[in-house]
Parts: sequence; C-alpha cells; structure tokens
Amino acid sequence: MSPQAITRAEALTLAAQIAAGELSAREVTEAHLARIAEVDPLVGAFLHVDADGARAQADAVDAQRAAGEPLGPLAGVPLALKDVLVQRGIPTTCGSRILEGWRPPYDATVVTRLRAAGVVILGKANCDEFAMGSSTENSAYHPTRNPWALDRVPGGSSGGSAAAVAAHLAPLAIGTDTGGSIRQPAALTGIVGAKPTYGGVSRYGLVAFASSLDQAGPMARTVADTAALHEVIAGHDPRDATSIPQQWPGLRAAAEAGAAEGLTGMRIGVIAEHDGPGWDAQVRAVTADAIDRLQHLGAEVVTVSVPHVVHALAAYYLIAPSEASSNLARFDGMRYGLRVGGDDDSVAAVMSATRAAGFGPEVKRRIMLGTFALSTGYYEAYYRSAQQVRRLIADDFAAAFTHCDALVGPTSPLPAFPLGERIDDPLAMYLADLATLPASLAGLPAMSVPIGLTPAGAAPALPVGLQIIAAATADATMYRVAGALAADQQQQWGGLLLDRAPSLSGGRP
Ligand code: GLN
Repeated sequence: MSPQAITRAEALTLAAQIAAGELSAREVTEAHLARIAEVDPLVGAFLHVDADGARAQADAVDAQRAAGEPLGPLAGVPLALKDVLVQRGIPTTCGSRILEGWRPPYDATVVTRLRAAGVVILGKANCDEFAMGSSTENSAYHPTRNPWALDRVPGGSSGGSAAAVAAHLAPLAIGTDTGGSIRQPAALTGIVGAKPTYGGVSRYGLVAFASSLDQAGPMARTVADTAALHEVIAGHDPRDATSIPQQWPGLRAAAEAGAAEGLTGMRIGVIAEHDGPGWDAQVRAVTADAIDRLQHLGAEVVTVSVPHVVHALAAYYLIAPSEASSNLARFDGMRYGLRVGGDDDSVAAVMSATRAAGFGPEVKRRIMLGTFALSTGYYEAYYRSAQQVRRLIADDFAAAFTHCDALVGPTSPLPAFPLGERIDDPLAMYLADLATLPASLAGLPAMSVPIGLTPAGAAPALPVGLQIIAAATADATMYRVAGALAADQQQQWGGLLLDRAPSLSGGRP
C-alpha cells in the first residue's frame, strides 16, 4: 500500500493487514506521521505529536507479530488522544495554560487498554479548554480548523480528535463527551463518534469537567471501526466508582448484523422536539432523507415526544458548571503546571494570580456560574431544580424506550459555522449542543453518523450527522441502527461521505 492508501484505509483493514504481515505497524505509523507533518500545520488537530513514542509502540507490535504472539483487534493502528486524558510522561494540557508543562505520572485506564490492544498513540489532540466549548476555539493554544472548509470550526470540544480523523491524520481517535463533545464535532466533520452509556468507559485518568456527565468514547471514519475501538476501551474498572460492572462485547457484531439484516422488526422514534423552524432548514432536509432510509431499511418509524428535553440546555448549564467549579478547584498553582508568584507571596496571592493567568474566559465564566448556583440561598432555586429537571428528562426517555428501540434526530441544529462567528456570544455557542445535551443528562448511549451534505451555495457543502440514542446499556442497539445506515450509504454513495470532501481530494485539506 502507498502511504496515501494507508492513511485512507479503515482501521480494521490496517489491523488485518498488519496481522497478516502484509504491512508493518511501523510503516503505518510512518505514513501517518508524514501526513501530520504535511497537513497539520493547516488543520491544527494536534497539541503534541509523540513521534518517537509512536514508533516505539509500532515496533513493539511488529516484534510481537514476529514472535508469533497473538495481536489485539486494532494492533498497530494509530490513534489521536484528546488532551484531557492522561498518558504517562506525555504533556497533558486540557487545552489550558494552567497545565502547561505538566507531564502526568500515570496512564488513564483508557490509555492502558489502548496499549494492551496494541493501538499506537500518535499524540494529544486539541480541544476546548477543559472540554468547555463547541468549536475548539476555546483552546488556549490554537483553534482547530474543519478539514471540509478551513475557515470553519470542526465543532468541539473534541474538535482536534474529529479533525485528525477527517483529515486522515489518524484513522481512530478518542474524544470525551460531557454534553455533546464527541457527537457534535463528529457531525460537523463527517465522521462517526459515539458517547457510551455513562459508566461504560472508565473515567480514571480523564481530567474531570462535570463528573456525573463526562464519558470518553470512540471516533472513526466508519461505524465498524468505531465499534471496534469502543470494545477496546469499554469495560469495568474498579478505579472508577461509577464504572458499570460489565463487559461490552457484541458492539461490532451488532453493527454487522444491522449491515447484513437491516432494521426489520425495529421501531425507531423521531424526537418531535428536535425539529421545527428553529433548526437549520438544510439540516432538516438531510435528516428527513436519512429517516426515509431507516424506513426503507425495514424500521417502523414513529414520531415521539420527549417533552422535557426543551429544558435540557438550562439544566445542563447549571449542573455542568456546578460540578466544574468544584472539580477545577484542584488547579491552585501548588500541585500541577503553572505557578504565578514569588516565594514571598502568600498562598492566596499565588492561587489567585495563577488562576487569573492560567484559566481562559470561558473556564472562568463556568467557575463563576457554578459557584453562584451552589451558594447558600441559590442552591435550591438553581442546582436542585436542575437536578429535578434532569430526572424528568431521564423519565421521558425511559417512557419512550418502552415502545421504541432507538430515537433519532439531527446531531447538531446547524452545520459547521465560520471561525469567530460565535466566540463572543456564549449563548449562541451553547445552542450548538441543543440536540446532544438530553442524552448526556440521562446517561444514555448516543452516537452521530454522517448522513449527507448541505447543498453548496453561499456556504460550501458541509456534512450533516444523525444522532442515534438508545436506552441505557443498549449501546449495541445504537450500533445496529448505525451499521444498517452505513451499509445502505456504502451502496448508495459507493464510499464514505468523507470521500466527497472537495478540500480533501488531492491529499491536502
Ligand atoms: N459544549 C458543551 C459545553 O461547553 C459540551 C462540552 C462537552 O461535551 N465537553 O459544556
């Protein structure tokens, strides 16, 4: 395979060829490192590339194969790791100046599992500071650009992970999703991204933003690759008290079953509240087409009301900042990264100066919002009410799943927007997560799959994603729907949506 063909290949294809000795893991890693060197100066997907570490991991896989040892399902395949997950000895910033220069002394469980599976970690992917944002413009280092249109955002907060996969810098990435940060960037860059059931993937070593919502998950160009990566990272971890004590086999098999058998016998609900005049007309049209395809694939499609989701945004922006204000108290200038002030300054003065210099404006806004919402006198009015709304949303979903196998709707109310368009308007930015927040609040598995393009006009053609939500722990059901849709598209389009990105033809974004 040529380096160009290697960087275009599916993760599972690369793994099969490496296992068969037709390609070396080292060759695959070198092809991706070369592409990063050529293309990432334009895209800005990575904050740190660990070329030597990646080569060493690849060589270890090749040595394992040469010794006749069994290889994991994704052994030798390169991956971009969102910079909110710690990897021993590798700079981890969370996109923040406050952690600049910090090298963690341990691996996140997700990293331990990736290593055990032989996945090659190329480096740390850019993100909004502490995963707070929807465009990756809140990174303290640099924005990431959308490979479909370099003047547009890739979404966020896992925008670096999404752009790395879309620009063929890595076939796989890990993102994290607190309110939509895997699904929304996946939709805006034309790739697949899944948020597992809360508790499905360990949070040990995932720097906490809002602990009751945070989940790491897989991102890739195909549903099968996404499912394969999901199986590698998921499973019980005694180091995370909210980890569900079960394994998650059968996700790939579910995607394959959907591809082979379609959706006959399944009932899929279209969320009534995630449609209407407030939603981008082009996104609505592409979504309606995808819903027709679901019907064509054998599903019974019904409209379902999930009435309390209209309050998800208000509830999320109380709960997530409240948890963040508590979690981020650990960044005090004493223990990690940045310290501003001299030896003669008081502890309080050093803390205050470090935080003033080290946190960006959005992080400060969230800390203040959360501190306010948790203060005496306001706790009942704000935080407790938000928790009550969260329960109502979860109950609505539970009711919907008594008569539907999955729920669908647009992942994002609008396609990729221009850099700079929303950065000064926090509410406009928060609205980008309208469709993804409800499943986060309810702890449900949810994923985004590419379904088509907006027509080119004043703006270029841009990808649209369909969100598929399933009942808690029914991650396999979500992959079944995604697998069916992807197989149908393969027939219709003769390839991936991403192959149609004009900016990506000729090898450059
Ligand atoms: N955009 C949302 C926020 O800013 C969600 C972010 C996320 O999922 N990490 O909080």
